Amino acid sequence: MPTVRVRWVGFVALLVVLLVVGAFIGTLLDPDGSTWGFAVVFAGTYLLLVLVHEVGHVLPGWFFGMRWANLTFQFGASVRSEHRDGRDRTPSEQLWISLAGPGLHIAAASLGLTVFDRNGLSFAAWVGCLFALFDGVANLLPSGRRSDGWKAVAALADIARRTVRT
Ligand SMILES: [Zn+2]
Repeated sequence: MPTVRVRWVGFVALLVVLLVVGAFIGTLLDPDGSTWGFAVVFAGTYLLLVLVHEVGHVLPGWFFGMRWANLTFQFGASVRSEHRDGRDRTPSEQLWISLAGPGLHIAAASLGLTVFDRNGLSFAAWVGCLFALFDGVANLLPSGRRSDGWKAVAALADIARRTVRT
């Protein structure tokens, strides 16, 4: 089993931001309901989907037989991992690892949008899924070097280069 660590600074920072945003949205959209109840359910749903995203990155690694020595959950960024066997990822492994995170993230958020209705705290979870869906889609766009979309495109370019060479 890998050693799992959580970057608590990132986690707490994200939690505070989500609670404030959730309280704001709750006041706006559900003025008669409990503001902090809304905030907690919103933040909890969003964080759960972040976790689903990170698990999505880990699953292909397991499938490819990678032994993860360390998994660090860096909230706001990504899972940082080290391999026990020390071998580098192949470009196609990297492609799957990059795509599976946002893929599972988007799938779970979309499922949540169909499951939760727009009443009370269920609405808070629905809004949390909506925000998480935007986040998942944004992450899939190759906007910056740290986005999963960028890593996927880089892996594809690597695969193409190797194909041309052989
Ligand atoms: Zn990711």
